[in-house]
Order: sequence, then C-alpha cells, then structure tokens
Amino acid sequence: MTAGNNEAGEQASLDWRAEFHDAALEALYRRTMRMQDAQQLRYGLRVIAVVFLLFIVADFVLLGFGATFLVLATIRLFITLCCLGLTRYFALHPARAQEAGPLNFIYSTVLTGLLISIHLHPGDFGLHISSLVITSLAIYLLLPNRLPWILAWNAFLIAGFLFVALLLEPLTAGMLIRNLLILAFANLLGWLTFSRLNWLQRRQFSLLVEEREVNRRLQREIEERQLLETQLRHMASTDPLTGLANRRHFFELSEREFSRAQREGTALAIAMVDIDLFKGLNDHHGHAVGDLVLTTVANCCASVLRDTDIIGRYGGEEFIIALPQADLDTASAIAERLRHKVTSLRLPMLDEGQRLSVTVGISQVEPGEVRLEQALQRADQALYTGKARGRNCVVVAGDISTSTAARA
Ligand code: GH3
Ligand code: MG
Ligand code: MG
Repeated sequence: MTAGNNEAGEQASLDWRAEFHDAALEALYRRTMRMQDAQQLRYGLRVIAVVFLLFIVADFVLLGFGATFLVLATIRLFITLCCLGLTRYFALHPARAQEAGPLNFIYSTVLTGLLISIHLHPGDFGLHISSLVITSLAIYLLLPNRLPWILAWNAFLIAGFLFVALLLEPLTAGMLIRNLLILAFANLLGWLTFSRLNWLQRRQFSLLVEEREVNRRLQREIEERQLLETQLRHMASTDPLTGLANRRHFFELSEREFSRAQREGTALAIAMVDIDLFKGLNDHHGHAVGDLVLTTVANCCASVLRDTDIIGRYGGEEFIIALPQADLDTASAIAERLRHKVTSLRLPMLDEGQRLSVTVGISQVEPGEVRLEQALQRADQALYTGKARGRNCVVVAGDISTSTAARA
C-alpha cells in the first residue's frame, strides 16, 4: 500500500460514533447526504404518524369510549399531527434534517407521548416492554441522527419507562433485571446495526471521494501531457530563433501543396530569400545583433504573405517560401513587396545609413514535375544569379529578362 493510500485510509477511518475522524471529510459526507437524510426523516415521520394513528383504533377497541381513551387519543393525535407537520417542514427545509434541534423536538415529543400513554394504558407489562424494544430500535434505525443523541434518547426512554413502571406497579428485582436486560440487548443490537450501516455507507463514500481524486489527478496528468505534446510538436516543427517553420516542417507543408497543385493543375511558386552581406553585418556587430536582424527580417518576410503561403527558415540567413495559387508574375510581385519592405526597415542597432537588403530567387512548379526539389533548385539558381548581379533584387528562374535589379 502506498503512502497516499495510507493517508486516505487514515482519513476514512471512523470513530466510536461511526463518523469520520477527519472533520472535513465528515462535513463533506453530511453535506452530500443532506437530501437523503431529509427524505429518510420524512419517511420515518410518516411511519410514526401511521403507527400512532393505528394505536387510537387499538385503544378504542381495548378501552371503549371514555375519559382515558379521549386523553390517549388526544395525545396520539397530537403526535400524529406533529409528525405530519414536520414531514412538510423537512420537505421545505431539508438542510434542517441534520440539525439537533428539530430532531430532539421529535424525540422529546414522541417519547414523552409514548411514556404517558404507557402510564395511562392498562395493558400488560410484556406489551409495554415490546413497544419499548421496537421504539429503541426505531431510535437507532428509523430516523437519521448522530450516535450521542441516539444514546441519550434511549437512556431517556429507559429512565422514563422505569419511572412510569414503578408508578404503575411495584416491580420485583428479578423482573426489573430481566426487563433491563431485554432493553440493553435491544440497545446493543441497535448500536451494532447502526454502526455497521454507517460504516458501510461511509466506506462507500470515502472510496467514491478517493476515486474522484484519482480521476482529477489523471485528468490533470492528461492535460499536462497534452500540453507537453503540443510544446514538443511545436519545438519539432519550429525554428527556435525566428519562430518560422523549420526546414523539415516547411517541406512537410509544401509537399502537400505540391501534390495538390499537381493534382488540380493549379500554380505553385517557390521563392528563396537570402539576406545580403549578412556575414559582414555579423562580423561587424556581433552574433547577438545578427540574430536580432535575422528575426526582424523573418517577421518582415512573413508579414507580406497570405495565410495560405508557407514560409520556413531554409538555413543560416536564407528563407524559403511556397506560394500556392501564385504564378511567376504574382510571386514576383510578392517578392518585390518583400524586398521593398526589407530595404525600408530602420534598425536602431545598425549604423546610420546602413540598409538591409535581400535577394530573392523565384521559380514555379512545372506541370509533370514529380518532386518539389526541382522547382527549389531553379529558385536557388535564380537567387545565385541575383547575387551575381549585385544583390537586392528579385530574379525569376529561366527568365533573365524579367529579373529586377533595384538597387537602393
Ligand atoms: P551574400 O550576400 O552573398 O549572401 O553574403 P552573406 O555574407 O550573407 O553570405 P554568407 O553565406 O557568406 O554568410 C552567411 C552568414 O550568415 C554566415 C553566418 O555567420 C551567418 N549566420 C548563419 N546562421 C546564423 C544565425 O543563426 N545567427 C547569426 N547571427 N548569423 C548566422
Ligand atoms: Mg547572404
Ligand atoms: Mg546565404
């Protein structure tokens, strides 16, 4: 058994009252059982009301219509009406079913009524003992209450009975002991049954609470794992410096576009972007500034693209872009826009007058091509041509005449 289980076991252990040692758990249990207790109490009250009502009939048969019968009937009717009134009351205020006040009112009324009726009743002694045994068990089992109160009311019942019995007729020591033993046995039986029932119910409840806690922990763990998985997937697909798709992820995404373009016969253009003279910038300002510039240019490139375009870091200071539904003209226009935006960047970390620029090579996937790399190679060649021409320009693969050389 683990430490956690031990702890849960300790929390779930019960005291002599058959209540949880752990006060918070006991409070939770009582809160959870509130409606059920109120319902059980209402059933119990109805049973008492019916029993007292039936005893009016029994009294009439036994006593006939007379003064004693009228007193007894009044007492029994009063208790019956009290019980029915309380049934309605607990239906409206179920939370009060667990409070000592209303429960003690029921016990005091019913038990006092019972003792008075025994006193007035000329029935034989054995019948009284039987009704006391049943009442005693009912105190344990019929109405939901806490054990100290149950014991107190049983003590009241026995003391009251002894008092009434001694008034009725003198008891011999033997009879007294015999009757007390019967009542003690009834109490022992009631106590054991009460404890057993409460133990079972609370055990079930603590298992349920434990299970819920385990489920909550599992749910938390699942959420943490999902988050971790998302983070891992993000890390595996993203370039940590620029936040763009890394090379592997770029190919994953653009291969899909390549297949679609070939399948549907739509255009797909590729643009290779390389920052001009970046090595010099790095050497002059240091790697940290170089990283910052790289990130800024990456964001600048991404900002001119449509949602459906795919951009990734190809390596070093080179970026690669896949432009679905874009022919060479559209791709050139986008690349021009990009080049222009980079040249207009004003970076505080660079020297006064120092301008950034990029060279872009453009190509287009041709019908019948089976691999994306073919278009990529053409874009790379165009980029190479652009560098050879003096940089800061857009060059379209296979069409040297349309290349733009727009030196700043
Ligand atoms: P060209 O215009 O011909 O492209 O010249 P270049 O200097 O940009 O080209 P070259 O390939 O000679 O240099 C690329 C440099 O980019 C070399 C390397 O130090 C730098 N570089 C590559 N990756 C990173 C990076 O992650 N951070 C920084 N700060 N620099 C990088
Ligand atoms: Mg470069
Ligand atoms: Mg380069």
